[in-house]
Amino acid sequence: MLTSAPPDDASPPVDAGRSRDAADARFEALARMARGHFGVSTALITQLDAGRQSILAGAGGSCGATLAELASCGQTIADAGMVVVADTRADQRLRDHPLVIDNPCLRFYARCPLLASSGGTLGAFCLFDDKPGELDDEQREFLRDLARLAAMAVESDSTAARLQEEADALRANEGRMALAIAGSGTGIWDRNLQTQEIHYSSGWKSILGYADDQVSNRIEDSYRRIHPDDLAYVQASMQAHFERKTPSYEVEHRIRCQDGSYKWISSRGKVVSRDSEGQPLRMIGTTTDISAMHAMSERLQQSVDLITCLTDEVPGLVFQYRRLPHGEAFFSYASAGIWDIYEVSPQQVASSAAAIDAIIHPDDREAYRASLDTSAASLTPWDLEYRVQLPRQGLRWRQGAARPRRLEDGSTLWHGFITDVTDRKRIEAELQEFATTDFLTQLPNRRHFMKHIEAELARIQRNDGGCAAVLMCDMDHFKAINDQWGHALGDLALRHVATILREQLRKTDMAGRVGGEEFAVVLSDADIPAAMAFARRVQQRLAATPLAEGDQRIALTISIGIAVMTASDASVDAALSRSDRALYRAKESGRNRIECL
Ligand code: GH3
Ligand code: MG
Ligand code: MG
Repeated sequence: MLTSAPPDDASPPVDAGRSRDAADARFEALARMARGHFGVSTALITQLDAGRQSILAGAGGSCGATLAELASCGQTIADAGMVVVADTRADQRLRDHPLVIDNPCLRFYARCPLLASSGGTLGAFCLFDDKPGELDDEQREFLRDLARLAAMAVESDSTAARLQEEADALRANEGRMALAIAGSGTGIWDRNLQTQEIHYSSGWKSILGYADDQVSNRIEDSYRRIHPDDLAYVQASMQAHFERKTPSYEVEHRIRCQDGSYKWISSRGKVVSRDSEGQPLRMIGTTTDISAMHAMSERLQQSVDLITCLTDEVPGLVFQYRRLPHGEAFFSYASAGIWDIYEVSPQQVASSAAAIDAIIHPDDREAYRASLDTSAASLTPWDLEYRVQLPRQGLRWRQGAARPRRLEDGSTLWHGFITDVTDRKRIEAELQEFATTDFLTQLPNRRHFMKHIEAELARIQRNDGGCAAVLMCDMDHFKAINDQWGHALGDLALRHVATILREQLRKTDMAGRVGGEEFAVVLSDADIPAAMAFARRVQQRLAATPLAEGDQRIALTISIGIAVMTASDASVDAALSRSDRALYRAKESGRNRIECL
């Protein structure tokens, strides 16, 4: 059966998709060796890859059939082991195969699987001839050896390909990482603690404006670049990490650039290897330029300082007050003035303003709470004057003004201020008193009395059926008292009468000085008998307490006219003129009398 093989260049072309590289040359050498050794027309090596068969190499050719056609012929025999078909015409499996019946009329076929080290099949080593043949044991063993060699080559190829793929992936990763690090403005350093050398990445050098060859690898130089004020802190942080006191080295400090200026950097690192005694051998880390961030935070701090200064210098309390949806409230900001306003520190009210509630004067507490409720509900400005009861300052007046706004979580946030208005309130009260009180007697003056009696008439007219007694009182022969005892004593006499009148008044009544020695009284809800009783008490009291001047006793008397003011009175003047007329009658009838009209 052994025939001389046709020259290689007569071989049909191998699978056009496959390039002839170094790997193919090995398989082709094996195929040529097999073809030569077995004296067959064709030797073929195929590879199975994910169920598909491809041709690794072929030597020879068989009467016009392509290697691919030959390879498919072998596939019709499903056998995992070695197959040797001595004569295809006598073989059940092959005798009807087109390549057996027609050209190239194959007669001999042998196949040995390429077995992987794991046991699987990698492909096959096949022999074809157009004459019947046989393989003896030695030849079969040789075919197995060739198949083993081919299998080893296939396996080493796939291992190499896998390694190549992994290396490619790693390189791509590295590239991405390098790009990411470069893009983040981060540099890398690697310090050898045995040689005291430090290596910097190009990125690191470019942060500081150095070219690649401008930075030495000596650690002493690296310390010289650190700002003198930061050096101790940097070295202490490094030492702490060397001694395992910190899990990593992390510092922010200034570092000198190539042009002599300083930049703020964040440096982070970690010891990556230590000797058997725990001494650090190598440390790797990163450096990030945080100058811009640092400048921004400095500007921010300056703004905060400015605001704090401004608010602390403003008299009173500048605040931000927040009330959560369920009612809990606190001062999210309070200027130093809170010491004066509430005698507490900003910290004391930073998480709860409950302490303030207790400081508000009990009489104003309701109004205080209600004013904030209203402001929160309608988002209208908060504006309130209220009293506080403080441990040191005692009772003080406060005025608060703030604008509310609603936050996303439903909270209300006020910005505003609270000032001390105690002095203003005192002056206001004094002015009020000045405007309404007669200086000599401290009784309401005429204007104030008239306002009161008008309000009283309005009240009577509102509650139809009510009334009030109006009394007109005039001191008897007062001119004579002045003349005899002097004006100063006259004044004393006026004060004396005022005191007696005041003593007889109920809370709802009012007496006013309406003329030189004339007083008017309005007794709320009083009829004539009640007014008579009042007038009598006044006269009796006056009689019982004469003025003392040295060892002299000066008797004072007063004439009183009474009228009742009712809803039918068109104005207070009507009632006043009735009581005036009654007074006139009292004078006419001899003074120190009470007359009604
Ligand atoms: P009559 O009994 O008729 O009322 O006589 P009278 O002297 O009290 O009445 P008249 O109206 O003649 O005098 C009132 C006097 O009251 C005149 C005035 O000097 C005095 N008088 C008015 N205001 C004051 C005051 O503020 N102080 C003092 N000391 N005297 C006053
Ligand atoms: Mg008079
Ligand atoms: Mg008089």
